[in-house]
Amino acid sequence: MKTNKSIKAKITSGKKQAGADVTSATPAPAPPLPKKTAVTKKRTEQTETKRGSKSSTNKARGAPPKRKPAKRRRRPSVSPETVNAVFSRFAEIEPEPKGELEHTDAYTLLVAVVLSAQATDAGVNKATRQLFAAADTPEKMVRLGEDRVRELIKTIGLYRNKAKNVIALSQKLIDEYQGAVPQDADALESLPGVGRKTANVVLNVWFGQPTMAVDTHVFRIAHRLGFSKGKTPEQVEADLLAIVPKEYGVPAHHWLILHGRYLCKARKPECWRCPVVDLCPYKDKTPAPRQ
Ligand code: SF4
Repeated sequence: MKTNKSIKAKITSGKKQAGADVTSATPAPAPPLPKKTAVTKKRTEQTETKRGSKSSTNKARGAPPKRKPAKRRRRPSVSPETVNAVFSRFAEIEPEPKGELEHTDAYTLLVAVVLSAQATDAGVNKATRQLFAAADTPEKMVRLGEDRVRELIKTIGLYRNKAKNVIALSQKLIDEYQGAVPQDADALESLPGVGRKTANVVLNVWFGQPTMAVDTHVFRIAHRLGFSKGKTPEQVEADLLAIVPKEYGVPAHHWLILHGRYLCKARKPECWRCPVVDLCPYKDKTPAPRQ
């Protein structure tokens, strides 16, 4: 079971930048990701499912769709030296960052990531401990059935649709991939409930590919650090893939997520204890709290 109990303490400890200039900066604050309403959340899930159906149809016709690389909009002004310095500091603090979703193999990781949309990792872990005790393979999951899956994950948001997707993707893995999780972006995205971000997480975390899953944390930090001016997750993904040094290609995704989750928070980034404060152009840095 992969867990990551030490990482929070490590990534949040950072390096104290006593006396660092937190006022000399430039660009505008990062634009927030558009908020999703309940209706748009549902549509997103339905869209992901529909996309899967279309892909599998094309695949059946012998013409599997190819994942289109996102286009970069404008080249970020940050220098390669700065980007390298940022990631080398993250590497120094946490050489082997790990995600916080509990899993034992590619299948349990895939299911956990599908369940994690609009939910916290802690909430998903609580539910998957029971779910995976009952079914930890596609075959067992299908045998368990949608009603029971729904019951076991009902503490997670959007659980009805997620239960449906977990059963459908498990059935598809059995029917088309001999029960194994494919190591391919297009094949992953053809599964019900699996979108680009989920596919990127599985490829990165389990298969060790240098993908960049852009969630709300990665999107925000990419803007604050001046790594991207992209307006969509796909554009930010393209910018990051273009500038992250090759040697940091695999762990970069985790570093950015953990940095955003525990330190560079949305409302009040803790700039006074940030290990890259002197490299960050964000203009509204938070000063150290008064003692
Ligand atoms: S915590 Fe502050 S200094 Fe650090 S990356 Fe975020 S905005 Fe920049």
